[in-house]
Amino acid sequence: MQVEERNAPARSGGSGLAERPRLRGMSPEQLEGLVRAAGFDAYRGRQLFQWLHRRGVRSFGEMRNLPGPLRAWLEENTSPGGIARAEVSSESADGSFKFLFELDDGRKVESVLMPDPVREYWTLCVSSQVGCAVDCKFCVTGLNGFFRQMRTDEIVDQVLYARHYLHQRDSRANFRNLVYMGMGEPLLNTGPVVESIRLLTNTEGVDLSPRRITVSTSGIVPGMIELSRARTGACLAVSLNAPTQEQREAIMPITRKYPLADVLDVVRRYPFARNKRVTFEYVLMKGLTDREEDAHRLVPLLRGLPCKVNLIPFNPSPGLPYERPDEESIDRFATILMEAHYTVSVRWSKALDLGGACGQLAGQKGQRTRARQSFDKL
Ligand code: SAH
Ligand code: SF4
Repeated sequence: MQVEERNAPARSGGSGLAERPRLRGMSPEQLEGLVRAAGFDAYRGRQLFQWLHRRGVRSFGEMRNLPGPLRAWLEENTSPGGIARAEVSSESADGSFKFLFELDDGRKVESVLMPDPVREYWTLCVSSQVGCAVDCKFCVTGLNGFFRQMRTDEIVDQVLYARHYLHQRDSRANFRNLVYMGMGEPLLNTGPVVESIRLLTNTEGVDLSPRRITVSTSGIVPGMIELSRARTGACLAVSLNAPTQEQREAIMPITRKYPLADVLDVVRRYPFARNKRVTFEYVLMKGLTDREEDAHRLVPLLRGLPCKVNLIPFNPSPGLPYERPDEESIDRFATILMEAHYTVSVRWSKALDLGGACGQLAGQKGQRTRARQSFDKL
């Protein structure tokens, strides 16, 4: 299954593409301001937003209720923004699809669209950065290093493409959940991530429920506080992955900068989605984080926090020196937490066979060769 469609190319001439406003990253209010300043009726900006987000059209020519002179002006002076080229790179036995998106500078990111077991609804896992600087030792994205931030329009466009693709296959498919768990650390790119949530929850656009959106973080304390203060209503997931400061430092060096106690303190003190518990993700690595004593350390650590625990058996990839635990130790670990009255789920990773599972998104091979940049330099 190959290429979807390209963005309509902007006409040459006029101002350079780089300086043009990228419409897919703008709110209805911003679009109203833009068209008003160009001498058109402000309400046209709202119609433009609906075409771009609700209808997901890719060329100005398709925006039939906009007057010709406005369409010509948009063509000449703006860019739709978003992703330059998209393809479905693979389909998994469990029904998941992996998308490979090429950005306007040729960089590549991936998203994974996953059905729930009975295909009642679908969840899209989006990327928020090209690569990642956090350097977790068990993650392919981290292994490959950081390249650049993604812009709001690029983050949003992953959703527009995936929704379009899904609805082409099945017009009744329920595109419902969004998780920021693809490539990158969303809370090292908090501004565009928050903006993308606002656009995607806009009732005149894609109209996702904020309660069905989850931002997953490795524990970037300032970003967590910023996300809480932005009051998007989105849920928070924290990738805990180890039960002590020392163990966590060994696999997530970011813990030296943002200690485990501080991360948990933010979860305790700052509100995220109302009446929704925070999720702690915990990657189970054989002999390292999956032992009984690890589970017994986790029990008091999370005591008193309204939370649920999502256990993720490690997904192996070439270059990662860890092993996936056997089912018995996964069960044992889960049981210890359940007996301590925690809500526990095990993520039997989707899309494992297509390399689209957690921590396996690598973008393109060419990106592997580039130098890494550490999170200190961001
Ligand atoms: N940067 C964010 C979101 C992307 S990573 C974060 O770290 O939370 C999404 C999830 O994948 C995280 O919970 C992370 O711990 C998990 N993960 C990374 N590599 C993995 C691997 N090889 N196997 C299983 N889970 C992995
Ligand atoms: Fe980055 Fe998340 Fe991977 Fe860590 S687990 S390297 S934060 S993408």
